[in-house]
Amino acid sequence: MTRENTQVVNTENSKSTEVLGETIGNRLKGGEIIELAGDLGSGKTTFVRGLAKGLGSKDHVASPTFTISRLYKTDNFNLHHMDFYRLEDVGIMAHEIRDLVTDPRNIVVIEWADITRQVLPDDRLLINITATEDDGRRIVIQAPEKLNYLLGD
Ligand code: ADP
Ligand code: MG
Repeated sequence: MTRENTQVVNTENSKSTEVLGETIGNRLKGGEIIELAGDLGSGKTTFVRGLAKGLGSKDHVASPTFTISRLYKTDNFNLHHMDFYRLEDVGIMAHEIRDLVTDPRNIVVIEWADITRQVLPDDRLLINITATEDDGRRIVIQAPEKLNYLLGD
């Protein structure tokens, strides 16, 4: 898998992680898949909260851990926020994800994608969040060439 471009952003608090999500949310065109990696409590859902805002959603984003998937609709987009932490069998979701991204209004964001990784399309944005000291986070964003427009200058 080639990741043409990498961007590293350090955020000092949850607000700035959310703002980063909002910035990237603003750049989404639809049809993207975003994989969010990082430990429990690293800030993946916080990031998605910003992403939804950037897409124009006014809904409050809550963790889909117990529901597996949540949908946030805006005028132009459907944000599918998935969390596979508790998922044991990936089969159905793999098809679901592929189906979803054939409609350019859909954007799929996945937390705990590990068990689906083998079946996910290569052309996805990969975001990895790790905690630093205090409340800081190191956020590494890797984009395949096709999704370079999601990265900053
Ligand atoms: P995850 O979805 O990765 O399990 P959450 O986004 O649900 O993580 O939770 C992250 C927690 O860490 C929240 O309580 C948030 O307020 C806190 N936090 C502290 N500092 C940061 C930061 N810099 N970025 C993101 N979250 C942070
Ligand atoms: Mg989460």
